[in-house]
Amino acid sequence: MGRHGTRSSADGPDIGRQIHQLMAELFPICRSITGEGFRQTLRILQRHLPLEIHEVPSGTRVFDWTVPREWNIRDAYVKNARGEKIIDFQESNLHILNYSVPFRGVLPLAELKKHLFTLPEHPEWIPYRTSYYRETWGFCLSHRRLLALEEGQYEVVIDASLEAGSLTYGELYLRGGTEEEILISTHACHPSLANDNLSGIGVAVMLAKHLSSIPTRYSYRFLFIPGTIGAITWLCLNEASTPRIRGGLVLTGVGDRGPITYKRSRRGDAGMDRAAALVLRDSGQPGRVIDFHPYGYDERQFCSPGFDLPVGRFSRTPHGEYPEYHTSADSLDFVSPECLAASYEMIRKILGVLEQDGLFINQNPKCEPQLGSRGLYHSPGAPEMALLWVLNLSDGRHSLIDIAERSGVEFSAVREAADALAAAGLLIEKESRQA
Ligand code: ZN
Repeated sequence: MGRHGTRSSADGPDIGRQIHQLMAELFPICRSITGEGFRQTLRILQRHLPLEIHEVPSGTRVFDWTVPREWNIRDAYVKNARGEKIIDFQESNLHILNYSVPFRGVLPLAELKKHLFTLPEHPEWIPYRTSYYRETWGFCLSHRRLLALEEGQYEVVIDASLEAGSLTYGELYLRGGTEEEILISTHACHPSLANDNLSGIGVAVMLAKHLSSIPTRYSYRFLFIPGTIGAITWLCLNEASTPRIRGGLVLTGVGDRGPITYKRSRRGDAGMDRAAALVLRDSGQPGRVIDFHPYGYDERQFCSPGFDLPVGRFSRTPHGEYPEYHTSADSLDFVSPECLAASYEMIRKILGVLEQDGLFINQNPKCEPQLGSRGLYHSPGAPEMALLWVLNLSDGRHSLIDIAERSGVEFSAVREAADALAAAGLLIEKESRQA
């Protein structure tokens, strides 16, 4: 049954375009870590997946944190003395400092400037800034526009609310052959930013669709959560079930044109880490596997020492290594359907390795068996080298992942060899696969 994990799907070559279309639909919504924008996003995802929407009340204690008050924004602008809107939330939701408290007032330019954020090194771009845990208000704008502001009085309106409500997240559980599960987590709290992280949302949706259409060995759990506080909240509410997690991926920044970067789990040698490294190796494409470090995205929480889950992070160019990160230049043009599709395919292959791993025992361990008389030479998917490696290392202690790592033979060929040898009665499977 696990064999189906890497079967070509019926998605066809336009999977990247489908992901990009979904991203374009979600792009204009002003999301934050709580509020209607997040809910609206999940409701759109529900058209694709039977996603469960959870609401966790403001004020709920989650480990060392507290679920914040809910933020909603209707409008925000700054008008100059002539009554012209010189900053307008309706033009771009990046213009508002995300989580700004409501404010109305008239200020001189010098006072207003204390609440303005720009990127002098990229004068045409609007930065994305948040103030989740400090009550303040502000606007983000291009540096070019800031330089054009004249002395005078400015009217500021922030029609927002910050009130008791809830934190919202989406969850989808796909039951597989065992209760052991693979966690796919993606943050969904950013407003109009494409790579970070509408790309992760889009790829996760299509992966969930695919996995729900095939039999799998593992169960799969997909999370669409606000960054940091969402992961902390989920872990706090679901602590009892976390030992079932045999592997996981945080998906973020999967649509830019850079090579793939896989960040290992804190453990460093989890099945997920090894499967990702093998798939990257076998792909022959440029890509990196980097060690765990305690900053980044929600792997920080999943890999905190009290959980230490086997969860890695799959990205293309890591955050901070591209100037468009957290700016208006992280637009729908910054991501490409081809790169989205390549990320999707690579993640599917990584999950396929976990699905197809196994532990076998050679039934003819005393000297090599005769392969020719069993018709095992020249089988197209399993070259002789793969057969010999699988026979030699299948002593009940080496999994197929071990064999692929040690031999340098592609994982798919190792798996084909094991199947051919098992069909010929030369191997039996010892036990179910382990991550
Ligand atoms: Zn971000």
